[in-house]
Amino acid sequence: MSHPEEKPAAAASSQRWGFSTRSVHAGEARQKPGDAITDPIFCAATYTFPDTQSVIDYIEQKLPREEYGRYGNPSEKVVERKLAALEGAEEAVLFSTGMAALVGLLMAKLNAGDEIIFFDECYHRSREFCARHLSRFGVVTHQVTACDYEAMEAAITPRTRMLVSESPTNPHLSVVDLERFVQIGRRHGVETLIDATLATPYNLQPIRAGVDYVLHSCTKYLAGHNDLLAGVVIGSSEKLEEVRKLRGIMGSISSPHNIYLLQRGLKTFELRMQRHNENGLAVARFLEQHPRVERVYYPGLESHPYHQVAQRTMRGYGGLVTFLVKDADWRQTADVVDRVRIFRIAPSLGGVESLIEQPLVMSYYECTPEERKRFGIPDNMIRLACGVENAEDLIADLAQALG
Ligand SMILES: *Cc1c(COP(=O)(O)O)cnc(C)c1O
Repeated sequence: MSHPEEKPAAAASSQRWGFSTRSVHAGEARQKPGDAITDPIFCAATYTFPDTQSVIDYIEQKLPREEYGRYGNPSEKVVERKLAALEGAEEAVLFSTGMAALVGLLMAKLNAGDEIIFFDECYHRSREFCARHLSRFGVVTHQVTACDYEAMEAAITPRTRMLVSESPTNPHLSVVDLERFVQIGRRHGVETLIDATLATPYNLQPIRAGVDYVLHSCTKYLAGHNDLLAGVVIGSSEKLEEVRKLRGIMGSISSPHNIYLLQRGLKTFELRMQRHNENGLAVARFLEQHPRVERVYYPGLESHPYHQVAQRTMRGYGGLVTFLVKDADWRQTADVVDRVRIFRIAPSLGGVESLIEQPLVMSYYECTPEERKRFGIPDNMIRLACGVENAEDLIADLAQALG
């Protein structure tokens, strides 16, 4: 019986493969335990050694294998190799959630007295972790206006260790000019991190652009079925060594069943992304010409402030579409949300089911009006996460909800 570590269809050959071939085959052994076509779910908390010499060989890193469940799982290695191959990177470290990946990366890399700089349009919990928790360990977080590269560069001090941004951002879908972002980091010897959850490796390739770390909430498009949580940090093996070690201490790992579902979801990744991209663009175009819509945020629209950067750097623009309902207060906006029949009211994005939410209510309800103004969250904002249904049905649903 072959071990999944044996001859994975990884590295060299997989880098020449097309995207979907990689998402189906990369990282997998050709022959698997039980001669099954699928990778097994290893429900093992610990792994046995045949004799003492094998223990010594493992510790001296002569024998690639597992030791104890908190440090890794053979199927998890398969998924990590697949994710690294999709990104064109050396290594991926899988975490239990996207937030665990962010916390793990920053805790592994930062020391008391260090500073990091964020573009200010970002996932609410990322901001909260830095402001409330990293600060307790003496790490200072500076926030500058999204895509203001001069402001980011001006905020760099000798203590700056990392530049951080999402691309596209949530929910405004601003797109970072990766070339400029990377240049600032290189000029000052500061590492760069892009949370590319909204783009995915299908639409954006930050590692190829020179970014040091890419982070994804795999909960979203990568897993794609709204049925699991996971996160990943991707980069060079050298840079990720400490991250993997800290994960082994934190224990923020995925369950064996979760890993199986993620690998299964990844098989259809390119197909799903193509449909998410088509649906996002079709819905955005429909909304843009609707008389009850004040403004649409979608990087694929010519009217979007970052359309040109997006065209230059992205393959498609994803399923997330944000819009403002014209002359509507928060209640009239909620009425639109409450009238849809296909979109489900829920946070999250990237799954096969289309979702709808009013950011004011879903994510920013506890903020003061001043804070919401600062974060750019008006009362009449709606965020759609287009799934893989038929675009004409999604459009008809929105038409009746707005009508
Ligand atoms: C959802 C999300 C996260 C957090 O991921 P979880 O898997 O929910 O922990 C981080 N960043 C972005 C951009 C997200 O959309």
